Amino acid sequence: MAELVDALDLGSSGIIRGGSNPFTRKRSIMLVYLETFGCQMNELDSELVKQQLKNNSYKFVEEDKSADIILVNTCSVRDLSEQKVLSRLGYFKLLKDMKPQLIIGIIGCMAERKKEILIAYPQIDLLVGPNRLYEISTLLKNIIGISKRTKQVSLFNIDRKDSSLELLERMDLERLQDIENRKQAYVRITRGCNKFCSYCVIPKTRGFEIHRNKDAILYEIKALVEAGVVEITLLGQTVNHYPEFHALLKDIHDRFPKLERLRFMTNYPRDISDDILDVMRNSSRICKYLHIPAQSGSNKILKLMNRGYTREHYLALIRKARSKMPDISIVGDMIVGFPGETQEDFEQSLSLIEEVQYQNLYIFKYSPRPDTVSFRKMIEDVSSKEKQIRHFKMLSLQQQISLKHLKNQLGKIVVILVEKALNAKLYMSARLIGRTEGNDVVIFQGSRDLIGKIVNIRIEYITSYILGGSFVSEFKNDHSYEDHKKTSQD
Ligand code: SF4
Repeated sequence: MAELVDALDLGSSGIIRGGSNPFTRKRSIMLVYLETFGCQMNELDSELVKQQLKNNSYKFVEEDKSADIILVNTCSVRDLSEQKVLSRLGYFKLLKDMKPQLIIGIIGCMAERKKEILIAYPQIDLLVGPNRLYEISTLLKNIIGISKRTKQVSLFNIDRKDSSLELLERMDLERLQDIENRKQAYVRITRGCNKFCSYCVIPKTRGFEIHRNKDAILYEIKALVEAGVVEITLLGQTVNHYPEFHALLKDIHDRFPKLERLRFMTNYPRDISDDILDVMRNSSRICKYLHIPAQSGSNKILKLMNRGYTREHYLALIRKARSKMPDISIVGDMIVGFPGETQEDFEQSLSLIEEVQYQNLYIFKYSPRPDTVSFRKMIEDVSSKEKQIRHFKMLSLQQQISLKHLKNQLGKIVVILVEKALNAKLYMSARLIGRTEGNDVVIFQGSRDLIGKIVNIRIEYITSYILGGSFVSEFKNDHSYEDHKKTSQD
């Protein structure tokens, strides 16, 4: 608070003293609206930014119109996501025209990637890349209360020797100051990526792969579990490339018996070892769930993508995972319309999907990103119309497969973690929503007391790719994976 008061030049009343400051702010607390685009890594970054600002006495609001500061945490993986941010910037400019003291900040990957363009936007006051997020409160302090603002910019691709790594680490741990009342949490174990897939900007925006110290990860998880968190998802762009990842998984599983569910994403196919699959197989509270993007079913396209594996290798891996854990949920990503993708290549992607029988699949149309090899060196020879057609065909195929999977659940008792209530807090009984360990979404009617608990639900119907059912009992995870399988099959 003291920091903010200094920055605002406030008297003890909390009202800005006259003089050079053009604002007539009547409160001492700055209100922040934070909007997040992109993946789970961005969600986690936003949570950490929130915590950092809360620690400095900022308050968060749900509405952009009531904010003093608007922050947008951005994603550069696809052009569409960047376009959405640019269009939001047009709207935020209108807000700023009405309220000139409004501070607008662009943070995350797009700030890093599009710095030259964004810096010219008059409405932007702050640009901060993903590896400099720990500086936000200091940079805001440089802006708040200054009548003639200068843009605050902090962008940097991290390297291992840089002391900023320590500051980033501190930001991850700062969240531990406010972790009451939560049941689920993301924990980052790796930053950046070294794989250099030919279409991907992440190594450029987030920098080289850097693994967090194992002790820091365990310390963070211990605090989260002691605060009541029952599900943790370990995050990394290639999470399974963490050194001795199987040992880390086993360690977390064995040390924290109160942790009901342990997940991890996203996996890089080439780095899934037998050790990892065995630890998953033998640890009852590690979710039998693998998010493992193939991106294409054609060896020619996989090579052009620089993915580092073949269709055969990928399929062998899926077979191996299923032989060890027959009911494992496999979730994937696919790109359609990559440069050079012929109809035959596309058909190979479809046949891979048929063979894998993904429980869920994220399908993307190829989006050329400047600064990538595919953008610089390959000709974009699949028209947007053709991409649209392929996207539709692939989606239709996956919908059939997903529906088949959901129909197979009818009549079974599944185990879910209850996440929240869908309706307003009028009665104790509510429409509750949760997820199975394979990430199927399940709704049922039940008492709000069940939120945060693991429960058994009998599946009775399917609606819009969501399972619906009724409450059976609370689940006690005190048996092995084999036992668990038996009880969940009714
Ligand atoms: S593995 Fe490839 S697609 Fe994934 S973040 Fe790294 S470079 Fe990007």
